[in-house]
Amino acid sequence: MKFQRDTMTDKLVLPGDEIAVEEEYVASDGTYVRDGKIYASQCGTLILDDNECIAKVVSYNPPNMLQVDDLVYLTIDDCRKTMATATAIACDKTQRVISSSTVATIHVSKISPDYTDNVADEFRKGDLVRGRVISISPSLQITTKDPHCGVIRAQCGNCKTELVPKGKKNLFCPKCRRSQPRKLADDYGDVKI
Ligand SMILES: [Zn+2]
Repeated sequence: MKFQRDTMTDKLVLPGDEIAVEEEYVASDGTYVRDGKIYASQCGTLILDDNECIAKVVSYNPPNMLQVDDLVYLTIDDCRKTMATATAIACDKTQRVISSSTVATIHVSKISPDYTDNVADEFRKGDLVRGRVISISPSLQITTKDPHCGVIRAQCGNCKTELVPKGKKNLFCPKCRRSQPRKLADDYGDVKI
């Protein structure tokens, strides 16, 4: 029998599947050996590492479903009267793509710990925002009330220059010399995603 020489195969294996022979590979995670042959001990993706001569089986990645209390990164799509609509682009607990719905809303009452009745005083279209999930069903809802939540990166609507913070509640365009209000995260401009 011949085995593929790839480091990472796309081959899915089941427990008991013969995956390699001991002459060629050392049995590692997710495998066991019997009579000189290596078998999968769990469902998963077969990895034959030819540099280390290791055979192992890694379990499938579970889907990345958002949960209440998760911190997420979103882009603001629209600012309506009572809410902002946004798209969740990443979750801080994993690098993987979000597999649940990414269409989010941020109600005007959930934006800031201070009273606000105008979404456009807090966010603008295109802003990158960190928020916390408060509901996933029937729809994804986000709050940005925490100090660590709010806008983390924004561009000027006129000239696309990256805005700089001015005080705790304003952003400033150094080119247009204009400032605009925002609900800022406490680390605006200093965020590495
Ligand atoms: Zn500008």
